[in-house]
Amino acid sequence: MARHLVLSDIHANLTALEAVLEAAGQWDDVLCLGDLVGYGPDPNEVVDRLRTLGARTVRGNHDRVAAGLADAEEFNAAARMAIEWTRKQLRPDLLSYLRQLPPGPVECDGLILVHGAVSDEDRYVFTAREAFEELQRAPGRVTLFGHTHVQGGFLLQGQRLGEMRIEQDPSGTAAVLELDPSTRYFINPGSVGQPRDGDPRAAFAVVEDASRVEFHRVRYDIAAVQRRMAAAGLPEPLILRLAFGR
Ligand code: ZN
Repeated sequence: MARHLVLSDIHANLTALEAVLEAAGQWDDVLCLGDLVGYGPDPNEVVDRLRTLGARTVRGNHDRVAAGLADAEEFNAAARMAIEWTRKQLRPDLLSYLRQLPPGPVECDGLILVHGAVSDEDRYVFTAREAFEELQRAPGRVTLFGHTHVQGGFLLQGQRLGEMRIEQDPSGTAAVLELDPSTRYFINPGSVGQPRDGDPRAAFAVVEDASRVEFHRVRYDIAAVQRRMAAAGLPEPLILRLAFGR
């Protein structure tokens, strides 16, 4: 049985990443659903860490822009400022690493990895309705996705479409979901470095084969990250939102 540590949307937040790695315990490998950089103050440290861990990674939209493979015209002003800062910071070897990351879908040990969606790496899947077609067209039964920074996901059992609402308790106990072998799943581990589901704690998941998922939240030193962002001159809305998880 393999335990996969699933990370997404780390967004150059090393403090959150370190807290997640410490809380995750034992794992066999790391799967990463993209957006290693953008927004946060530690692009070199985060990319270096993921590379060292040997993470199986698909690229996110921020990685693509940071690597110079796309322009930032789809980004709002704050995101654009942050990605321009990021591009200037990144070491050449880490830029090359980002540049060679594959787009999803990528199959790994029976799991499908995408950043946004199967049909389009940049597509957001926020609702069950948006997930329906993706669940049908996914090349495997269990797809792992990110991009929305919302922990949870969707399932399709025959023609029954459902949403997984993760009730996280403040103590940090993981929410565990046993996967049914006849159901198709779209599972979002949530964002490590910039959660937007109202819970500011770093989010991640552990997937055991394609049979069991643990959804975790872990506290980290948000103020320390905010201080590094301010020192780097990153936009204030990006600094403030970390404390709210929005
Ligand atoms: Zn993201």
